[in-house]
Amino acid sequence: MGASASKLFVVSGPSGAGKGTLVARVREQLPDLGLTVSATTRQPRAGEVDGVSYYFISPEEFDRRVAAGEFIEWANVHGNRYGTLVSEVERNLDAGSSLLLEIDVQGALQVKERFPDAVLIFIKPPSMEVLRERLVGRGTESSDSVELRLANAEHELELAHRYDVVLVNDDLGEAVEELLTIIETYERN
Ligand code: 5GP
Repeated sequence: MGASASKLFVVSGPSGAGKGTLVARVREQLPDLGLTVSATTRQPRAGEVDGVSYYFISPEEFDRRVAAGEFIEWANVHGNRYGTLVSEVERNLDAGSSLLLEIDVQGALQVKERFPDAVLIFIKPPSMEVLRERLVGRGTESSDSVELRLANAEHELELAHRYDVVLVNDDLGEAVEELLTIIETYERN
């Protein structure tokens, strides 16, 4: 039996591909898996808590933190900025377990440049039709926002080949099992 090593996992995929639910379910099974809280200039949605869902900060504060080198990566996604704070990554690495970042494709590719050993996992919806149904069904986005997210999804799907693993999220239960297997496999190697 080989020793397991802590690894940096990066999960991305189009908005509505089910990343959030998938990651939450995997986390129930792997409570030691660290998860970072990102900073964003987006407005909180109903039920989102500052410091838990995201650190909700102003554009000026975001600029200041970029200039101060406080982000390991950041990107403009759907008209707002999002970034992973160095402090969040350090806090988790200090705990000695693997870490999972749930970030967009631009951010994921920045992380891979900086940490070549990072494992990039792309979550793909079964089809664009299913993606649209999920985004509309979620009820959190305006119709403009749904269209913007679908247009961005096309672009993101084109970058899936730059990921180490592509996982199709059709049946949630199966996708959870697959993601658990991927994490355990990379931790062993
Ligand atoms: P939402 O607004 O739906 O919470 O997130 C929109 C997108 O921003 C998602 O694709 C999510 O993965 C991405 N995102 C969230 N946090 C970060 C981050 O820290 N960095 C980057 N690059 N993208 C992020």
